[in-house]
Amino acid sequence: MRAGAVSLLFPPRCAACGELLRFEGFGGGELPVLCPGCARQWESEKLSACGRCGRPVFQCVCLTEELTDAGCAGFCKLVYYLNGRQPPVQNRMLYHLKNTPDRRTAAFLAGELEEPVKALLRQSGDPPLRDVALVFIPRSRRAVRQTGTDQARRLAKALSMRMGVPLIPALIRRWGSGRQQKALKRRERRQNAGKAYRLRRETDLRGKTVLLVDDIVTTGASMAAAARLLRRAGAVRVCCVAVASDDCNQSMGVRPPQLREPPGRKSWRQ
Ligand SMILES: [Zn+2]
Ligand SMILES: [Zn+2]
Repeated sequence: MRAGAVSLLFPPRCAACGELLRFEGFGGGELPVLCPGCARQWESEKLSACGRCGRPVFQCVCLTEELTDAGCAGFCKLVYYLNGRQPPVQNRMLYHLKNTPDRRTAAFLAGELEEPVKALLRQSGDPPLRDVALVFIPRSRRAVRQTGTDQARRLAKALSMRMGVPLIPALIRRWGSGRQQKALKRRERRQNAGKAYRLRRETDLRGKTVLLVDDIVTTGASMAAAARLLRRAGAVRVCCVAVASDDCNQSMGVRPPQLREPPGRKSWRQ
């Protein structure tokens, strides 16, 4: 498709509120992804405090219980996914990312993630970038068919280009595993997630620190299942990366301020 046709189909609109973006005032530089109002909201959402470590969410690496159990090294995210009548800027932007094959939003979010991801790597043994690989959580084939896009893949690809770290499509979503994780109970989620992915044949991650990428993490059951597979393929550590976390949001003020807790504790979500 020609570039002109693309801009007619996808005129430059704010990725959150849909308002048409104006070219004026950007000094011929790159057009932003968010309108000024949404950009302000986005910046303030990134500052929401984590209920466990007290840091702004974009600097928090707290793991969910599932990710702790799976032995993940840390979990970086930019914002909390919030449920409410007035969906905040991040929910709308994530919805846009999920349903539109728009590369600019993925590139913007990758730019936002780059520093937090590097900080997480520094805290996780500080491996040289040649020993780091990016892996994404693949979406179900049905969802890709319906929307024409796999948002986690796009996000990981954009991050791979920014950081100069290879993207390895190590995971395959099993056929028939397209059940909505959201609709399941906790135990079902874990069982379902464990069956949902398999390793691509001949995947070799020996000695690698893997950055495992998804768009939203709820309990982390899918990510935990994927992390276990990656460890089996030789990954020395798995660092989780997402745009938004739903889990920490719900734990705010409920969990004690500890980074890691021993497994086998009663869930605070029940
Ligand atoms: Zn906007
Ligand atoms: Zn935290």
